[in-house]
Amino acid sequence: MRELFIRDKNELYKKIKFYKTILYRNTKLVTNIDDEECKAIVEALNIKNRRKRIEFIYDYCCNKIDNYYSGKNICGFIGNKCVNQQSPNCTYKNGCCRLCIHQSEFGCKTKNLTCKLFYCSSVTKKHKVITFNDLKILKLFSLRQRLMVRDSFFSTREQIISDLYIGSIIIFGLRIAIREITSLIKLAKMKYIEKNA
Ligand code: SF4
Ligand code: SF4
Repeated sequence: MRELFIRDKNELYKKIKFYKTILYRNTKLVTNIDDEECKAIVEALNIKNRRKRIEFIYDYCCNKIDNYYSGKNICGFIGNKCVNQQSPNCTYKNGCCRLCIHQSEFGCKTKNLTCKLFYCSSVTKKHKVITFNDLKILKLFSLRQRLMVRDSFFSTREQIISDLYIGSIIIFGLRIAIREITSLIKLAKMKYIEKNA
């Protein structure tokens, strides 16, 4: 495998689209750029298996967001209720604005990048947040994949990764619709069991 040395950030961002093409399938990229996300981009480009690269990018983004907010409580959580959920009549919890099958007593059971990138104005008015555009590594995804990342609420990590791997907007739309319906049925069943227990 041949090696290609990347000297600076601009070169990397300018040529990122080329580096992910088949022309670089047998090329190992090497860099000494002193930037953690650039290093991650190069690492992702060196993963030649498509699904594994998607998983790497997805997990990198989730970890970057989690690390940035670690210990900050920008959503003003008291117990399992964020600042928007603390009125006595509000039944929502864990910061989720709708009922979702992936909620648990301890928060979200999965790793949903779309939900991690959602911020209401209570937060954005007061705090600097990580936005979609701050995650430069997402440039490694196609436009369709980036649209999916923006709109995959209420899905599991594995479902989103499969959607990104399939890469079709039509299949994505169908899968989201099926997921929503299945989720509503499961939630209704759970409520029924709870009520009649
Ligand atoms: S972004 Fe807003 S709604 Fe979401 S958890 Fe934070 S305060 Fe609550
Ligand atoms: S997937 Fe999103 S809406 Fe569902 S529990 Fe997790 S964070 Fe909340």
